[in-house]
Amino acid sequence: MELYKLTAHELRDLLRKKEVSSVEITKSILDRISEIDSQVQSYITVTGDEAVKRAQEIDDKISAGEQLSDLAGIPMALKDNICTENVLTTCASKMLYNFVPPYNATVTKKLNEAGAVLVGKLNMDEFAMGSSTENSGFQITHNPWDLSRVPGGSSGGSAAAVSADECIAALGTDTGGSIRQPASCCGVVGLKPTYGRVSRYGLVAFASSLDQIGPITKDVEDCAILLKAISGFDPFDSTSVNTEVPNYKSFLVNDVRGIRIGIPDEYFIEGLHPDVERSVKEAIGLFSKWGAETKRVSLPHTEYAVAIYYIIATAEASSNLARYDGVKYGFRSDRYRDLMEMYTQTRARGFGKEVKRRIILGTYVLSAGYYDAYYRKASQVRTLMRRDFEEVFKEVDVIVAPTSPTPAFGIGEKIEDPLQMYLSDIHTIPVNLAGIPAISIPCGFTRENLPIGLQIMGRPFEEGMLLRVAYTFEQNTDFHLKKPNLNG
Ligand code: GLN
Repeated sequence: MELYKLTAHELRDLLRKKEVSSVEITKSILDRISEIDSQVQSYITVTGDEAVKRAQEIDDKISAGEQLSDLAGIPMALKDNICTENVLTTCASKMLYNFVPPYNATVTKKLNEAGAVLVGKLNMDEFAMGSSTENSGFQITHNPWDLSRVPGGSSGGSAAAVSADECIAALGTDTGGSIRQPASCCGVVGLKPTYGRVSRYGLVAFASSLDQIGPITKDVEDCAILLKAISGFDPFDSTSVNTEVPNYKSFLVNDVRGIRIGIPDEYFIEGLHPDVERSVKEAIGLFSKWGAETKRVSLPHTEYAVAIYYIIATAEASSNLARYDGVKYGFRSDRYRDLMEMYTQTRARGFGKEVKRRIILGTYVLSAGYYDAYYRKASQVRTLMRRDFEEVFKEVDVIVAPTSPTPAFGIGEKIEDPLQMYLSDIHTIPVNLAGIPAISIPCGFTRENLPIGLQIMGRPFEEGMLLRVAYTFEQNTDFHLKKPNLNG
């Protein structure tokens, strides 16, 4: 049996029936990585020996008759901006090329406690800045569906690894779309939780008022399992919210009758790829057929989202990235004569081009004389955008739209044109600015056989509703079962 192809819940059932062991599953994943990762290049670090040891510990617990969680013995991988004790955590930046955290992120700790087996750390755009994973300081990840294309980003390594069966499930992070857009490009499921649902402790900060960690999985059931495992209040993150974490599996019902679905006019605009528009409209048609009520809605401030995001996110990034000075972490340039030159040389050589562009932009919008014109104004418009959603959610239960205006684009196609790259997130950024949850699920393929993602957005802390709508779609379609054609 090709164990690497299965989902976490399928493997859990086999583990419980003692038909397979965690060591067998883990070895199957490690073989798969050796076989195809030279083509996909999704991993920065593979923790093979530790993983097999850990799997053996779980197998011993299973033999001893211990009751274990859904994730026990399941090989997983994490985006490389999530801290893992004693395991390299680089943020795909030369600045952190040798950074080994002395502690685990809260999500890492929770997954360890659930018995998950960490097989490695995944490639990303440097410090999560980008939509293609081409901004990695180390390597470019290739889309498993077409190796000449990008996997999306910034969690491109996570989405590509799940899609290529190089791990059973992964975590990514989403500041402006970085879980959903790569999930859409690679034909897998990705969920950005409500701001505050999942602790950010131990996540290397990019834009702290927007960042969230979330699951990237092969299907909606695995997404529910993983979300449950990582959610919850954490005294180490003052922005995590102290509300009960529901049992997300209880929302996995195949029924959308009576659910009110909003279709926002502003998301079906010029520039939308015709195949994306067709697939998303077909999906909406199916929901009506299954008994949901669909209606047109308007989110009038959508047009400002990208502009506002690139003020707020860069402002926060310029402050968060001030800590990389050659003293506390990672890289230090050896070309300096005094302290000031050590700082400037370290930052000039340690950061890549896009990161520097963001630091410069962010410093500018926060500077005296410009703060009111840019940062304050952007914060005000952000409030208006949140209100747009609040108004619409009085009338509908979820909002459905494309995740991304286009399928995966070619490697090299947008990298020299930052504005075009920034526009990749036009449909995902409003969700982060409003702090609401959203999921992307596979909903079709283009004529060139590239995956298309459907985005479902919901009210704060109503991830359960998103899972229900997504699960119903998945149960009645087979897009999530298609696999890219990769040979070792
Ligand atoms: N692509 C967006 C950016 O470059 C979003 C990144 C993210 O969500 N981390 O900032």
